[in-house]
Amino acid sequence: MNDLAEVGHLVRQLNDAQKEAVTAPPDHRLVLAGAGSGKTRVLVHRIAWLIGVERVSPLSILAVTFTNKAANEMRGRIEQLLAMPVRQLWVGTFHGIAHRMLRLHWKEARLRQDFQILDSDDQQRLVKRIIKQLDLPDDQWPAKMVTNWINSQKEEGRRPGSFDDMGDFTQRALVRVYTAYHSTCEAQGLVDFAELLLRAYELCRDHAEVQAHYRRKFRHVLVDEFQDTNTLQYLWLKLLVGDQGVLFAVGDDDQSVYGWRGAKVENMIKLQREFAGLEIVRLEQNYRSTGTILKAANGLIERNTGRLGKNLWTDGSDGAPIQLYAAFNEYDEAEFVVQRIKDHLNGPCRHADLAVLYRSNAQSRVMEEMLIRGRVPYRIYGGLRFFERMEVKDALAWLRLVHNRDDDVSFERALATPPQGVGATSLDKLRAAARDGGGSLWAAARRDPTLLGRTSAKLHQFLDKVDRLADQAREQPLAQVMDLVINGSGLREHYQKGAATEARASRGAGSDQAEARLENLDELVSAARSFEKPDEDGVEPVSAFLAHAALEAGEGQATAGEDSVQLMTLHSAKGLEFPVVFIVGLENGLFPSMRAVEEGNLEEERRLCYVGITRARQQLYLSYAEVRRIHGVEQIGMPSPFIKEIPSDCLMETRPRAGLLRPSSFGGAGSAGGGSNASRYGSGGGGYGGGTGGYTAPPRRIHGASTPDYGGLKLGQRVSHAKFGEGVILSFEGEGERAQVEIRFRDAGNKRLLLGLAKLQPL
Ligand code: ATP
Ligand code: MG
Repeated sequence: MNDLAEVGHLVRQLNDAQKEAVTAPPDHRLVLAGAGSGKTRVLVHRIAWLIGVERVSPLSILAVTFTNKAANEMRGRIEQLLAMPVRQLWVGTFHGIAHRMLRLHWKEARLRQDFQILDSDDQQRLVKRIIKQLDLPDDQWPAKMVTNWINSQKEEGRRPGSFDDMGDFTQRALVRVYTAYHSTCEAQGLVDFAELLLRAYELCRDHAEVQAHYRRKFRHVLVDEFQDTNTLQYLWLKLLVGDQGVLFAVGDDDQSVYGWRGAKVENMIKLQREFAGLEIVRLEQNYRSTGTILKAANGLIERNTGRLGKNLWTDGSDGAPIQLYAAFNEYDEAEFVVQRIKDHLNGPCRHADLAVLYRSNAQSRVMEEMLIRGRVPYRIYGGLRFFERMEVKDALAWLRLVHNRDDDVSFERALATPPQGVGATSLDKLRAAARDGGGSLWAAARRDPTLLGRTSAKLHQFLDKVDRLADQAREQPLAQVMDLVINGSGLREHYQKGAATEARASRGAGSDQAEARLENLDELVSAARSFEKPDEDGVEPVSAFLAHAALEAGEGQATAGEDSVQLMTLHSAKGLEFPVVFIVGLENGLFPSMRAVEEGNLEEERRLCYVGITRARQQLYLSYAEVRRIHGVEQIGMPSPFIKEIPSDCLMETRPRAGLLRPSSFGGAGSAGGGSNASRYGSGGGGYGGGTGGYTAPPRRIHGASTPDYGGLKLGQRVSHAKFGEGVILSFEGEGERAQVEIRFRDAGNKRLLLGLAKLQPL
């Protein structure tokens, strides 16, 4: 392979700066460069170069990526470049790698061999239960807040025992919860996400042999998205690299978006101090986006302070202007997006070329509704994730319980679904018995067969059922076990009944969801099929499968190979690229988030916006809604300040295809004039457009959460009218006989009609 003619392809599609980084001698290196400049590409080529040219064994390379998907793609790309498999290469997320180490060294890590991963949802449930056990009032100690606190302690490497000064009352209470939570996890063999990292770090720190083994093994440690490492991840990397290893990190301080989760962008600066001889490489040419998109991104991010400073340019064309759409409400916004998606699909785009990005997961619902109505296939990436769906988690809880009876979180979930006839009071009694006896719920239940009086029989039927399933499952392949558990637990029947009831009640729509639940249960059985044998590290199928379910859950899986529009949060879009991108919900208080606005710190949100903009290759759409229902309450929104920060000559205000009038009767919020009018958002103009009173008002409530019945019609619904033709419902006003409906008709423009007289036909 040393012949340059043979390795030429490893460097051919690289510019000089990239080439230098890929072929550099083995010193510590930080590639500090903006979005789309080829950092990830350089990392992949560097690994291929090390293996193919420098003759480094794949065994001595550790590559850390941000998602499992990125890890798989990276391996695939390297194999393609080298035309050979590189199975021994360790590539994965921090969590994935930590998990792998803990499985291999469970003894040294003081874990049970069959330890299970506790996902965020279950972690919060467990914390909630402990708060209750400790008699702390749960309105003052919200489980979510306490869980976050525990996780942030772990991210800083703090154990319950390491608080010398116990601090004030609040801290003392938090430490009490942390302590109880920790011992429960220890007793039940549960490891949460933050624990994975902390345990793996402690393992490498405290065990001389383990440390020496990995230092000897990993001569090259390569890290993508370095700007989002937290304190612990940084320390762990440092430990692994040691004196002999070589670190190759790539990152962009402008894309650091996990500060809220403990990521420390300062690690980039620390790196320069703590890794002797670190070379910094800068890449400035962007290969991803058009000139216009890049100019918008640069203009926006310039507003941040304390940047490490980068200059991005492209020799590509300016491309089309960024289109900005001021929607009337979230339905109008979604309708606009779907319309544009269809336009692109009529052109050269495939579905997967189109991505819709939003700030919070809750925004996907309306978008999904409109995509379904428009019959556009889509998938949510990192949204409602397969392994986090209710029925899937129910089935996994049964599987876990069959596997480990002391897992209380799964015990409670299994007891609740399908209902076993053991109510809340009985469960409380059982919990108290477990607490007093110092063991698991299972142990307490078995200890005293009459504990629950008349309910005891029901409880024991449940215990026997679990034992029976465990007997039947012995020696069976995992997929069969999964099937057995789904049927034997009564879950399938439970959801089948649900499907039948929902079908009767809703004549169709709801039963789709129930059907989908049954399909997901089947899908779970198929998913288990790839875990028939112990994996390459010798991990048993059940453990490997459950770990996979917990670790992959954060990303969501594609429905097998179907070409579909991609929906995701801005956070999950990091590192990805799409020809066409829609960023929706650009309203103050939504994006930037309310918390950022209140705290007066917009920098991280601005970086998130920079990430969003730089995902687009050719065309970018931005939109906001003048009215949006948030948590059941309609609010008038102001456009996000980020819109104003984008150089105005990059933007073009756009309208729905039919060139309709904006609704004019709504609180003065209609935009003035027609055609493209980017100057409204120009940075020089005071406020957002003259005469649009609605924009300058702070968000305020205009309707309560309950919605009157409008004859079964809904916002966003498509309807047809005898005279005006087809249209979409934008709003309702008033109730009863005076109820009015506002519709945007495709040909006849916006109309406000009396609902009682309009004789609308749903489409
Ligand atoms: P991000 O900061 O968003 O993670 P990045 O710096 O990792 O971006 P890449 O994803 O590696 O950038 O590259 C962006 C795009 O540019 C990819 O489509 C990549 O294939 C392409 N690209 C990178 N370098 C070159 C090059 N020298 N010639 C042609 N295309 C390139
Ligand atoms: Mg990248």
